[in-house]
Amino acid sequence: VLTVPCDMLVFGGTGDLALHKLLPALYHLHRDGRLAAQTRILALARQPLSRADYQSLAERRCRAQVARADFDTATWQSFAERLDYFAMDVSQSADFGRLAKRLDSHERVQVYYLATAPDLFEDIAAHLATAGLAGPLSRIVLEKPIGHSLDSAKAINAAIGAVFDESRVFRIDHYLGKETVQNLMALRFANALFEPIWRAGHIDHVQISVCETLGVENRGAYYDRSGAMRDMLQNHLLQLLCLVAMEAPVRFDAEAVRDEKLKVLQALKPIHGLDVQDTTVRGQYVAGKIGGQEVPAYYFEKNVDNDSDTETFVALHAEIDNWRWAGVPFYLRTGKRLAKKSSEIVIQFKPVPHRLFNGGEANCLLIRLQPEERISLQLMAKAPGKGMRLEPVELDLNLAQAFQQKRRWDAYERLLLDVIEGDSTLFMRRDEVEAAWSWIDPILRGWHEYYQSPRPYPAGSSGPEQAHGLLERHGRAWHE
Ligand code: NAD
Repeated sequence: VLTVPCDMLVFGGTGDLALHKLLPALYHLHRDGRLAAQTRILALARQPLSRADYQSLAERRCRAQVARADFDTATWQSFAERLDYFAMDVSQSADFGRLAKRLDSHERVQVYYLATAPDLFEDIAAHLATAGLAGPLSRIVLEKPIGHSLDSAKAINAAIGAVFDESRVFRIDHYLGKETVQNLMALRFANALFEPIWRAGHIDHVQISVCETLGVENRGAYYDRSGAMRDMLQNHLLQLLCLVAMEAPVRFDAEAVRDEKLKVLQALKPIHGLDVQDTTVRGQYVAGKIGGQEVPAYYFEKNVDNDSDTETFVALHAEIDNWRWAGVPFYLRTGKRLAKKSSEIVIQFKPVPHRLFNGGEANCLLIRLQPEERISLQLMAKAPGKGMRLEPVELDLNLAQAFQQKRRWDAYERLLLDVIEGDSTLFMRRDEVEAAWSWIDPILRGWHEYYQSPRPYPAGSSGPEQAHGLLERHGRAWHE
């Protein structure tokens, strides 16, 4: 099915996000025949590049990013016909006048994808309005992070809201574009099996981990002002928590789904003041080895302050004060330069009320987003042979195999199509973003007030010891 024709304008078109993620996703959509013939892509940035310069830059990056079997010159050439470049400085209002002249038709859907730093969002929205480019057919896509605090997020949302009504604002969180994350909703709300036990009476605790092996790469300047809490936990991890914890929406539409997610964020028990010492752990990596290679300490990374106290790791114990989840710990952790790349949600069920057999563990549902996408349920089974010895076995839902998929869609492909179609179910609503910041802000303040400096952890380890202590004192452990 083809989408409606549109102009896709990528602000920050020479940046890493545009070249590494957005253009490869658009290339795949083109190759799969999902873009209407008249759809055009216009990359915008400050560098004075010609159309040919930009096309060859984009080709080089897409070639490196797209699987070899999916990349061929003829398809690239037909894709490149859609692709153009426009040099402009988004802080200059006059440049938007030039842009308006360049866009000959306002009858089409215009998608403005802001793949730039968030401090440019307010200017871009205002200048689009002044240049008459924010008509009812236009939409705006905002990348995370939306601000760095509740106040800055509110200021960005207000500036965007003054130009685009909420139905035309798409705050992207690419975790929501992942098939497995959407499957979490299918698992919960399309199978009678899980919902009755999806509550405090049967669930011991939940873990959400996003562990990276990468360091800050060339994003040191941004990261050092941000840290793991703002860069990852405020958005990706809290979104995953919402999908695990939300009530069934009355309909599967943008408002109903987001209403339920919002209620979860509003029910998060505040962590403030001295609470941060017992319920949160900050960490920062020091030199170590990853995959046999020596890597430097965080404070020696490029564009990072030598006495930086930014956290590259955070773990915390969250609680949701509502009827379904009262008393169930949600343990969240994320960090850079950890031993293994893995993103997963673990639903740890309670043990059976009465043990008949020796051995055996409680059931556990594992929803894995990285390195591979899969869902598996750990059940207890009798080991073959004499006696009654129990061993855990896995009921594995291999989604790629079940649907005989040739290629797994990247999250950005799905989300870009949703933007073109105007479906905001998988995007964050303004009040959700602000509710997430309302919960995060007091933790950041608590760290500052009680000078909670980050605990060092060697690169290539599983994070600071204190993060293990967070669970060990409740007789639990991180799923490794
Ligand atoms: P980047 O620094 O690589 O790219 C920024 C782009 O903005 C460049 O094209 C630059 O030329 C352009 N730009 C900057 N100032 C400009 C101006 N005044 N006028 C016109 N163009 C201007 O950054 P990035 O890594 O691509 O990230 C962009 C945003 O997306 C950031 O907010 C980042 O946090 C977010 N993000 C990035 C990734 C990723 O994978 N890189 C993932 C999620 C979110």
